[in-house]
Amino acid sequence: MTEMLRQQLIDTAIAMNASGLNQGTSGNLSIRCDDGFLITPTGMDYAGLAPDDIVPMKLDGDSRGKRKPSSEWRFHAAIYRHRPEANAILHAHPVNCSTLACLNKGIPAFHYMVAAAGGKDIRCAAYATFGTRELSEHVIEALEGRKACLMAHHGLTCFERDLPRVLALAVEVENLADVYCRILAIGDARILADDEMDRVLEKFRTYGVQDA
Ligand SMILES: [Zn+2]
Repeated sequence: MTEMLRQQLIDTAIAMNASGLNQGTSGNLSIRCDDGFLITPTGMDYAGLAPDDIVPMKLDGDSRGKRKPSSEWRFHAAIYRHRPEANAILHAHPVNCSTLACLNKGIPAFHYMVAAAGGKDIRCAAYATFGTRELSEHVIEALEGRKACLMAHHGLTCFERDLPRVLALAVEVENLADVYCRILAIGDARILADDEMDRVLEKFRTYGVQDA
């Protein structure tokens, strides 16, 4: 079982880079397992990863693998502790999410698909040095009632029920960030009304978003 999860994690990490969401080794991915979670190792090219390079961790941060875990293991652990519905976490530095995050901007409801992240906007977490407890606290706060957030002067973090869904959510948020950057370059964004976003969120809860 764990062997299969390790391979799925590697395959999704390779797919993440192939999708253009991430460059090089800056991003990281994890999946919840029985007694904690499995996370990609620090500073290794995904294409060369073998299942035993994946690092098993406990929710308290204890790690056992032969490799060192991603330097961002702390907020992965914090999300699994705080959000029981989170089974897979993706963190990356996609160009458009990072552009907005470097302006300390979140993504407002300029498009109904913003609701795919669980609410009426996608927040930008306050800045703190990578790998710190302070950054974990900011990420947990920005994810309140959401499955995705930007991170100031840094990038994107999101979680989902499984690895295919978390990759799809990251692609969607980066697409929204791309369109929002274009809108900001041309003029002011028009934001959907609160009650319309309530309707969209209700439809997402009832029908899902696969073909919306
Ligand atoms: Zn990062």
